[in-house]
Amino acid sequence: MKTLKIFNTLSRKVEEFEPIDKNLVRIYCCGPTVYHFAHLGNFRAYINEDILVRLLRYLGYSVKHVMNITDIGHLVSDADEGEDKMILAAKRERKSVLEVAEFYTNAFFRDSQKLNIKRPDVVCKATEHIQDMIELIKRLEDKGFTYISNGNVYFDTAKLPDYGKLRGGCTCNTISRVDEDLNKRRQEDFVLWFTKSKFENHILLWDSPWGSGYPGWHIECSAMAIKHLGESIDIHCGGVDHIPVHHTNEIAQSEGATGKPFAKYWVHNEFVLFNNDKMSKSKGTIVTVSDIEEQGFNALDYRYLCLTAHYRTQLNFTMEALSSARNARKTLIHNLAKFAFEKKLDLSKVEKIQSNTLLDPICEDLNTGVALAEIWGYARSLNEENFWSVLSIDEILGLNLLESIKICLEIPQDVNDLALERQRYRQIKDFKNADLIREKLYQMGYLILDSKDDKFVILRDTV
Ligand code: AMP
Ligand code: ZN
Repeated sequence: MKTLKIFNTLSRKVEEFEPIDKNLVRIYCCGPTVYHFAHLGNFRAYINEDILVRLLRYLGYSVKHVMNITDIGHLVSDADEGEDKMILAAKRERKSVLEVAEFYTNAFFRDSQKLNIKRPDVVCKATEHIQDMIELIKRLEDKGFTYISNGNVYFDTAKLPDYGKLRGGCTCNTISRVDEDLNKRRQEDFVLWFTKSKFENHILLWDSPWGSGYPGWHIECSAMAIKHLGESIDIHCGGVDHIPVHHTNEIAQSEGATGKPFAKYWVHNEFVLFNNDKMSKSKGTIVTVSDIEEQGFNALDYRYLCLTAHYRTQLNFTMEALSSARNARKTLIHNLAKFAFEKKLDLSKVEKIQSNTLLDPICEDLNTGVALAEIWGYARSLNEENFWSVLSIDEILGLNLLESIKICLEIPQDVNDLALERQRYRQIKDFKNADLIREKLYQMGYLILDSKDDKFVILRDTV
């Protein structure tokens, strides 16, 4: 089996991946807060995680992929400040929190499907795991990691000697802010269970040993990861914004409660920028899958764009970059479709051919950009082996190449007849009429690619 090398935020090094249990790789990814449509920045995280899971499966591992749905508890700031995002959304939309959650969860999976992101094996909602969170807080309490202040239960970060090991010197954004919660002993301490709401009439409340209230945000991921994957997991993913607070606190809670290492590898994607600022809802700088579709793009154009950049570098989103990605994706598909047509390949029987030239860069810390460059090398001088290698590596890249090629080659009879008519004009050197038909076919959404020996390929242009 080939070895995957992956950058581990915890060690700050690229490491060889070795699962804890060789029979099953356990991977947890922080899922969406379902208070709004997920934006393209969020989807970079999910695309990257999808590629990692696809790669592990391609390499022969069995994988259990768990993702949570945050439908309660995520405050406007990651550090216990501001209102709950879900409750704000419910007020904004005059719906119940559960209605808001259901609506945006469905939208999230619809967009994920368009981006060809496979659904995780387990998708779990915070509101369905409150009891698990309470049990975990009780374990922390029994071990002396908590204190109660003004009715809320806090995690006492002073009790955990290696608190903050994930973020190291990185005290980015949220943690450096002046903290307004005067109930805390230390600025880094965080709420496990709220009973004293800063806002009156909190809508969602659950009974607990500490009184009626609701959980902090961080505890949900620890509780759900442990419940569905066990106390030590292989890989935990998310965006870099989660390093200083959310993931740091997940480690504190999980390792405090179990006394075991929580996640062996921490994999973080860098931000998508928009106008050189982080794409984020609070900054009003978001672009969604529907936004780009409305402008005539396919969601897979965005997936392609993500693949061109390394996941640990920032990606500046522009419409020009998206257009280039679309052109590249379409040209690649057209090249492959033309080859399949000319060689009369049977696309119902995919030949699995592993090309190390394409696979090796992905195994080197998910370097999809290099793999794409190699694919282009193949696409420029296709032979059958290269063709099937490109389709095989697409099991990992997820550009849906095979389906797109098939769509390209679906030509209705009337279109084919027109193409033949054009051919007859060309044979009698009536290029004017031949060009008129070519233009007509183009307007109908079809492309004609001529070959040297008077042959042609007709392709549907909508992919
Ligand atoms: P949230 O719903 O805010 O928890 O975000 C969902 C996922 O998207 C998390 O893994 C975040 O770290 C990630 N994320 C948020 N904004 C961006 C961005 N602009 N670029 C890349 N990833 C992001
Ligand atoms: Zn999380």
